[in-house]
Amino acid sequence: MPTRAEVDAKAEAEKSKVKKSASNKSPQLLRGFKDILPVDQKYWEFIRKTADSFANGYGFSRIDPPILEEASLFIRSIGKQTDIVEKEMFSFSDTGQGTVVLRPEATASVVRAYINHGMISLPQPVKLYYWGPMFRRERPQSGRQRQFHQFGFEILGDDNPVIDAQIISITNNFYQQIGLNQISIQVNSIGCPDCRKVYIQELVTYYRSKRKMLCEDCKKRLTKNPLRLLDCKKQSCEVIKAEAPQIIDWIDEECKTHFMKVVEYLDELNISYILNPTLVRGLDYYSKTVFEIWPSDKEEGSQSVLAGGGRYDGLFEVLGGQPTPAAGVAIGIERTILQLKHKEIKVGKGLSPDVFLAQIGDQAKVKSLLLFEQLRKEKIKVAENFAKDSLKAQLELANKLGVRYALILGQKEVMDGTILIRDMESGVQEIIDFNKTVQELKKKISNKF
Ligand SMILES: [Zn+2]
Ligand SMILES: [Zn+2]
Repeated sequence: MPTRAEVDAKAEAEKSKVKKSASNKSPQLLRGFKDILPVDQKYWEFIRKTADSFANGYGFSRIDPPILEEASLFIRSIGKQTDIVEKEMFSFSDTGQGTVVLRPEATASVVRAYINHGMISLPQPVKLYYWGPMFRRERPQSGRQRQFHQFGFEILGDDNPVIDAQIISITNNFYQQIGLNQISIQVNSIGCPDCRKVYIQELVTYYRSKRKMLCEDCKKRLTKNPLRLLDCKKQSCEVIKAEAPQIIDWIDEECKTHFMKVVEYLDELNISYILNPTLVRGLDYYSKTVFEIWPSDKEEGSQSVLAGGGRYDGLFEVLGGQPTPAAGVAIGIERTILQLKHKEIKVGKGLSPDVFLAQIGDQAKVKSLLLFEQLRKEKIKVAENFAKDSLKAQLELANKLGVRYALILGQKEVMDGTILIRDMESGVQEIIDFNKTVQELKKKISNKF
């Protein structure tokens, strides 16, 4: 029988073995988190540039709220009884600051900033544009991550229905601009809190009569968040949903007139849309107009909403501000990129370099380092591999990068004060004056377009 000491020693050895193997394993990405790899950057750059130009063109000013906020900001705005607040927020307590969360969305932050900085005293409406990561602890699946990115346009301080139509129009134009023209715009009105109350009673009465046939989630929604009953994608509930009372029949005159106006403007703007009576968006802060952008080949039950938004007139008061009407949209960047790839849409040359600088020999290497800096300052995208000495290896790399032109500097060229420009497609080489490199290169690159 082993002595106690032997047992202890064995256990200790086992423990250190475990520790060792754990520390040898590479740390992995967290579930639902992704690296945005260099190969994908061209898509991000493309969306970012288009979004920036839209913000500029439509007069939106950039705002960057922080990623970490007080939990109460989202509990009060999005609503206690929503999936996001109930189970999807990354929250932790921070000494002296109470519970803080990684923001699950940015509209509430934008409204908080508007209130905090007294933007109500600026000429109204105030038009704001944001871009950045959001966090939700959801079950990861295609197009759904725990860290995802959105950009959005918010128009704060105006209750005119033309604002709602404008937001929808900007979103539509954005998708046309990036080449995703097969989208469907779903619109609905969920009324104001007053008329919504009446409708929810009606909805609950109807669903109670079908309680036995409802899925477990819907049974819970019936008491907690009845509007979300209309979001259920389960086949058995779809049948019940099809017969459910429609909110548009229950909203008051003011809300109805507002919605009719929005729809009229969309007609005037020649924007095709679908009236979707079951669209509710599921966040507490919406009122009146809500909308979503779906790919038009959206498969049944898929979660691939590309963008969504609407009006949120009541949000300011909920957050302690003065009553202020507002509307906005959030555009899902990952989902939009997925769709661009799915449709095989070319997104420009991205970050691929204009020219490759190859060098042979010590003197050429030194001269190339200087030339590289000169080209970079002239905003010519130049690739190199100064660590390689063989011309063949360097030109292979240039080919791999898809570079159209290569500059070749060897011993002979250094002596002659020249440099070679090689057209990588035709293989044709020209000798040019070294001092005219930038000039000649710019001529060639601009011919490309
Ligand atoms: Zn109303
Ligand atoms: Zn259901």
